[in-house]
Amino acid sequence: MIRFVVLLAVLCVCDGVKFGQLCHGNSANSMRTPDSTYGAGNYGASRVGGTHKGLDIKCSDGSIVYAPFDVSLSRGVVVYANDDNGRKAPINKGIRMTGGDLCFSLFYVQPDRTSGTVVKGQRIGVMLPMQTVYRGIDSHVHVQMCDKSDPTPYF
Ligand code: ZN
Repeated sequence: MIRFVVLLAVLCVCDGVKFGQLCHGNSANSMRTPDSTYGAGNYGASRVGGTHKGLDIKCSDGSIVYAPFDVSLSRGVVVYANDDNGRKAPINKGIRMTGGDLCFSLFYVQPDRTSGTVVKGQRIGVMLPMQTVYRGIDSHVHVQMCDKSDPTPYF
């Protein structure tokens, strides 16, 4: 009998980059509460036709969103490439940025601007009105790495 040994590579977060506060009113970067309608907000959570590729951090509609550390803003993001009837248009924005050797996007944020550098804790935008699209959900910023890897180790 052949026994296969699987070696799990452990990602080294060598410089210890951690996300600072993302959203006003959520200093602990708490995740959103799972619900029966929309599922859970952890990375890898079940979704129709796949899994959740990001991490959902609670953020009330209209709240100020902060740079989680010193970052360079890369560009604006369209969250839903195929929003057929425009139903999700009120929340269909985000912003991509790099910093601390990471590249990631924040979804559902109206960016103040989409280029230049900002320092940790500086305002970068406003949480869009998620309740108008996903009524009853814990409104949240979706944090997604550019390579769609798991952002959880950085929280
Ligand atoms: Zn999400």
